[in-house]
Amino acid sequence: GHLPAKLVADGLFVNYGGVAAVRGVSFAVDIGQSVGIIGANGAGKTSTLKAVLGLVHRRAEKLAYGDVDLARIPARKIVREGIGYVPEGRHVFGGLSVEKNLLLGAYIQRWNAETKAQVAEIYDIFPVLGQMRTRLAGALSGGQQQMLAIGRALMSKPRLLVLDEPSMGLSPKLVDEVLAVVKRLNAADMAILLVEQNAKLTFEATTYCYVMENGKIEIEGTADDLRTDPRVRRIYLGI
Ligand code: ATP
Repeated sequence: GHLPAKLVADGLFVNYGGVAAVRGVSFAVDIGQSVGIIGANGAGKTSTLKAVLGLVHRRAEKLAYGDVDLARIPARKIVREGIGYVPEGRHVFGGLSVEKNLLLGAYIQRWNAETKAQVAEIYDIFPVLGQMRTRLAGALSGGQQQMLAIGRALMSKPRLLVLDEPSMGLSPKLVDEVLAVVKRLNAADMAILLVEQNAKLTFEATTYCYVMENGKIEIEGTADDLRTDPRVRRIYLGI
């Protein structure tokens, strides 16, 4: 596997033509830590994650994972550095089986002893995927597709898992299932960077959080501090 490393973004910017989506954002995810970024629709959370993954053009004073300068390596190599990505909207391959979707998350997308063992591990975490291994991914429920998207990201054995709004469109029960999985992975020493509109979920899944508004981080602190912050309670928890 990969060595654990700290993710650091300092002075990160993303522009789309004239639109400044991320405006000087700084954050860090320590080794084995679980960190959240919350904010409303359009705050710039997805763009921040895509910037880390190299999926959009970005500018930063520093963007590093351990001693790897992420700004200098192409997106397709970032996963090899031990960062797994679960994109917003899941993006599973609906016309392929569950198992084939998992295989596509491995570096070497071929059946060998390692990929077989890794798939078995995913079925251990998500028994429902094992039960549905031969089903087409497009036939799964939204919650099952979310589990598949997470399972696929785990195939590369990341040390840091980046999740973009995994609760989107899920029932409260399935949101709880996603929460349990994130906690379980973090308890097994995987670092987590979770982007969410669901502040309640985020405060339960993480220990440190950033609140993003209009492309900037406006508030940050421990999940416990933010949970009791009057402004966060009013705007993000509706209390
Ligand atoms: P969401 O909850 O919808 O994912 P978000 O907080 O992740 O929202 P972003 O998707 O990062 O926000 O969007 C930030 C801003 O950048 C928004 O104003 C959005 O309209 C704009 N934007 C995002 N992607 C593009 C793009 N490809 N081209 C132009 N503008 C974009």
